[in-house]
Amino acid sequence: MSEFGHWICRRFTLARLPFSIGANSFALMSCAKIDPALHQAQKPPWIKVRLPSNPVFFSTKALISDLRLHTVCESAQCPNRWECWSQGTATMMIAGERCTRACGFCAVTTAKPFALEEDEPQRVAEAVRRMGLKHVVVTAVARDDLKDGGANHFARTIEAIRAMDPSVIVEVLVPDFHAQDWCIQIVLEAAPDIFNHNMETVERLTPVVRSRAKYRTSLEVLRKAKEFSAQVVTKSGVMLGLGEKEPELFRTMDDLREIGCQVLTLGQYLRPTPQHLPVVEFVTPERFDAYGEIARAKGFEHVASGPLVRSSYHAADFHPVVR
Ligand code: SF4
Repeated sequence: MSEFGHWICRRFTLARLPFSIGANSFALMSCAKIDPALHQAQKPPWIKVRLPSNPVFFSTKALISDLRLHTVCESAQCPNRWECWSQGTATMMIAGERCTRACGFCAVTTAKPFALEEDEPQRVAEAVRRMGLKHVVVTAVARDDLKDGGANHFARTIEAIRAMDPSVIVEVLVPDFHAQDWCIQIVLEAAPDIFNHNMETVERLTPVVRSRAKYRTSLEVLRKAKEFSAQVVTKSGVMLGLGEKEPELFRTMDDLREIGCQVLTLGQYLRPTPQHLPVVEFVTPERFDAYGEIARAKGFEHVASGPLVRSSYHAADFHPVVR
């Protein structure tokens, strides 16, 4: 079967899952427009994935396993996991490791999720304590099967971390909650320091890159977060190399600035498996630097831009003055 066929099959599998995914998902299946023949198989020399180098990596791995936690580092096959875990940091992924969506770039498993685990917030807080983290990033799969999209579970996790150590900077990387006010408010009432929601790509490519999510809905999520909480820092991220054009990227930066987004990450899209979207282009480190400068000139307070930058990579380098 062709590479393209595999990709379509991934979506088709989702359409046959025994839970509701909504009509939009089927519509998306028919509009796959990134030509797989464009895939750049040869990685350039600047895409280097480091291997585990010190004992901290293995102690981080053991701790996460011991506490029965999931990390986006593993589930999304993040290229930085060796480096981050070797430094004793990890991005916690709550609400299970089965996602109700099937984004074309993402390695997280699409399947009917299990029930939420009541004690997971406490286990996350315990991991933060044992790892001695001063800045923790908490993310989750999209839980479209839950009425609140997992918002209360986010809030409970933030509260558990705060109860353990009020000084820890808590960053949440949330799904879109369909931009429902009450879900966003539930998360914000738990007072995270940083509210991150990724745009992932430019507006034109959103229907083929993201499953169910809409570009304008994601902007609304970030706009509402700022409207509901003046003190929360809003953050977003965009992957490059999916075929976006520079004017489209700059338009996305402008759209984010217009709704007050303060922090931006730009990183290279890497195809996790042949069933995922092709890498249309490897953006050079020099261009990442230039885009970072442009983003700063547009008013972002903090920008991380580089081939291996991910939304939580070196997240603690940004110190929000919030409390
Ligand atoms: S919603 Fe998030 S976790 Fe789920 S498939 Fe898309 S990117 Fe992956």
